Amino acid sequence: YLSRQAQVESNARTYPRHLPIAIADASGSFVRDVDGNVFIDFLSGAGVLSLGHNHPELVRAMTDQLGRLTHALDFPTPAKQEFVQAQLSMLDPALRDRMKVHLCGPTGANAVDAAVKLCKTATGRGEVIAFQGGFHGSTHAAMALTGLVAQKQPVANGVPGIHFFPYSYCTRCPVGLSQDSCLTNCVSFLERSLTDGNSGLPRPAAVIMEMVQGEGGVIPAVPEFVRRVRELTRLLEIPLIVDEVQTGCGRTGTWFAFQRYGIEPDVIVASKALSGIGSPVAMIMYDRELDSWAPGAHTGTFRGNQLAFAAGVEAIRVVRRDDVLGNVDRRGSQVAARLGALADHPWVREVRGIGLMWGIELADPVDGRPAGEFARAVQTRALRKGLIVELGGRQDSVVRLLPPLNVTAEVVDKACAILVEAIKEGC
Ligand code: PMP
Repeated sequence: YLSRQAQVESNARTYPRHLPIAIADASGSFVRDVDGNVFIDFLSGAGVLSLGHNHPELVRAMTDQLGRLTHALDFPTPAKQEFVQAQLSMLDPALRDRMKVHLCGPTGANAVDAAVKLCKTATGRGEVIAFQGGFHGSTHAAMALTGLVAQKQPVANGVPGIHFFPYSYCTRCPVGLSQDSCLTNCVSFLERSLTDGNSGLPRPAAVIMEMVQGEGGVIPAVPEFVRRVRELTRLLEIPLIVDEVQTGCGRTGTWFAFQRYGIEPDVIVASKALSGIGSPVAMIMYDRELDSWAPGAHTGTFRGNQLAFAAGVEAIRVVRRDDVLGNVDRRGSQVAARLGALADHPWVREVRGIGLMWGIELADPVDGRPAGEFARAVQTRALRKGLIVELGGRQDSVVRLLPPLNVTAEVVDKACAILVEAIKEGC
């Protein structure tokens, strides 16, 4: 299973080192390496390939666009206009009417930076609240907002003014409280810190959160926690930024995950699956009331990827026509049912997810420590059996599944069978 080419390159980059294959080509939910081995791809370019590799209609839309216009900085173009309209059409009418769209270029981290800059400009304030275990990207500011210490440690003196609060995870309360007390405590702590003049925390420019912490180990936020954070931020006039870079574009069964949670954010950050096919593009949608930017306040050369716009418009058409969001729910339930076979495995601490974003958390049955080495072994075994999966969470102890959103029942069955086998083989 080790591609020859990947062995040569494997010390240069992270992904090939842990998943030592060199990819030659791909189609739908499958990739083929340079030696001709075929794998089911449940990483999907880190959640980017929402309609699988090389979706023929997206390829056609891009090819048509290729002959017309490929790059136009941030000039208005028909492709950009259609893309912006298509994205707005995925919001409820009341929210849609309040939102403006700013194309950022072209990564999730750049859009996170844009969102925070916008909120700082609009409020004139400088502090930002983020959550423990969150991930927002690898640029200096996005990394500073990231609550995963291991990722940040090598970079000294991050961006100042960022404060981390617990991300309420009541079934695993860090101080052992019962579910309800944990939630109450988390919310009260945040509320007190924001409202008590003696807490030392100035009123922040923004609160940024993920609805499901992806890199943090697939941790869906407790709905009541999300609702209370929204209430509090609204009351105190603090803009709420929802980072939908990983959860967006259908991954959780609604276009954006916040729609599932029944809240309305002030800023939405999206990137990864916006084009559906891996053509880079990122955007923020923000409440008109925050529109404080002078022209040129957040520029960037690659903000006009016309190929991504064309593919993104087509992706939304396909998602609607093929009821892809319905498929996400159905296949998600199927993943839950198949992975149920792991429920009483001693090393499986929890299987959790929403839509087609799943994680299997592995922990030592004796001392409860995150079982990163076992997870790595499972990843390697799964690869040998023909399945690509990624890891995340504390000490990379969570096996993460991000299949294409149009994956078939047959492929889900096959992939889950491989995973169950890879885990049952023990550590
Ligand atoms: N936010 C979240 C929630 C993410 O999962 C990621 C990427 N994994 C990012 C931001 C950063 O996106 P990018 O890698 O495109 O900069």
